[in-house]
Amino acid sequence: MYINGQWCEAKSGTRFDVTNPATGEVIGDVPNGGREDVVAAIDAAAEAFKTWSKTTAYQRSAFLYRAYNLMIEKKEHLAVTMTKEQGKPLKASRNEVQYGADFLLWYAEEAKRIYGETLPAPRGDQRFMVQQHPVGVVGAITPWNYPISMITRKVGPALAAGCTVVLKPAEATPLCAVEMYKIFEEAGLPAGVVNLVTAEKPAEIGEEFTNNPKIAKLTFTGSTGVGKMLNQAAAANMKRVSMELGGHAPFIVCDDADPEHAAKGVSLVKFLNTGQACISPNRLFVHKSIAEPFIETLEARVRKMRGGNGLEDGISIGPLVNEAAVAKVDNQVKDAISKGARLVCGGHRLMDNGMDKGHFYAPTVLADVTEDMLIYREETFGPVAPVLTFESEEEVLEKANDTNYGLAAYIYTPNIDRAFRMFEGLKFGIIGINDINPTAAAAPFGGMKESGLGREGGHEGIAEYLETKLGGFSI
Ligand code: NAD
Repeated sequence: MYINGQWCEAKSGTRFDVTNPATGEVIGDVPNGGREDVVAAIDAAAEAFKTWSKTTAYQRSAFLYRAYNLMIEKKEHLAVTMTKEQGKPLKASRNEVQYGADFLLWYAEEAKRIYGETLPAPRGDQRFMVQQHPVGVVGAITPWNYPISMITRKVGPALAAGCTVVLKPAEATPLCAVEMYKIFEEAGLPAGVVNLVTAEKPAEIGEEFTNNPKIAKLTFTGSTGVGKMLNQAAAANMKRVSMELGGHAPFIVCDDADPEHAAKGVSLVKFLNTGQACISPNRLFVHKSIAEPFIETLEARVRKMRGGNGLEDGISIGPLVNEAAVAKVDNQVKDAISKGARLVCGGHRLMDNGMDKGHFYAPTVLADVTEDMLIYREETFGPVAPVLTFESEEEVLEKANDTNYGLAAYIYTPNIDRAFRMFEGLKFGIIGINDINPTAAAAPFGGMKESGLGREGGHEGIAEYLETKLGGFSI
């Protein structure tokens, strides 16, 4: 763990193992932090805030540039660590390291653009000035599916704003966090500005983040269930929160779209990270008139995908995170088939070529999916593409919006009027229009409804770490 500029063990003296989900091998261990450790980290961050919040935007920017350059320099090492610890194919890990580094670069620049305002006052002898101040010490909790970019997406804007941070990464992927903290150390960040507490049992850390008076803000990325619980606890102490939670993205292919092009898009985005992405399509609504060529193309592409250890060449399907994830995916597939879905391909565990030692599930396509199936409402977080058909734009908009989630949605149509109508009608925070990757450091990422509160990335991302302060001057 990294507390007050020092690498340290947990006060309890215990550690926990980290395993490779592709092979089941133990690849390392980290300290098992608890309440005492997180309190020490929060104290260090509160002390460091006194001076870090007074640094100039140019000084903070310089640290972020250094950390960005170090990430690029160490890209291959970070990517290999990620593939071993999280399982995604090496090429995807490299892409994530670049995406993660982009947040440091973007916020190195945004640090210098924290503007204020002067406002006309109602009295002639009065002047109004509005400034933006850092909120204070930030508690950050990150998930395992994007174990590096979810750190920089929080730490980048927090540091740029003048906040200090205590991070608790997911228990499945603490090694990526350790590598990132070596970079923050090498970038020369002063002691206490960024702190890392690894923990096998996250609840104690969450309780401290939501109760400790020195924490001003909680930023969380993870499941909607845990997010709701943390949000309730934070509300009791009026802490600021950002919540990046689950999703259930509709992917709509209209009758005027090219079914083969759309199927190619789905095959790329749905199986990215083996479906373990919050913006992964979870319901494919395809117009009845083009469903057949769409499914044929999708099936052909999916049948060519190879599962295996992401360090090997030609692998596109890595392991799922653990056995519980495999069981959840398999249960959704079996439930759908028992209720009348047609299994187009996949639908079983992958066991050959050593995959029996890891948590692999075959890329799967289901057709004739209906609203009574679990997969229609539950986030899958796995490699299953469920296809439904529709007949009119009104019908598909209503069905697409019929979910408690509101993170990402996708539309395929060449018709600009229709694209606008659907973009405006869909109740989701991120919408890809003939585009499968509507994310970047410069773009606001976040959800509506139970997908969360607040945005990460873009100028919106730094606003989450700032408080507005008004000065009324009598002159
Ligand atoms: P999770 O909620 O189980 O865990 C996320 C983090 O919360 C981990 O660090 C975990 O240790 C911690 N945590 C778990 N219980 C806690 C508690 N009681 N108190 C404090 N912390 C606790 O989610 P996960 O399975 O790791 O991640 C997958 C979920 O994350 C999916 O639902 C996915 O959609 C979501 N996600 C969302 C985004 C986004 O930006 N909206 C991005 C990535 C993942």
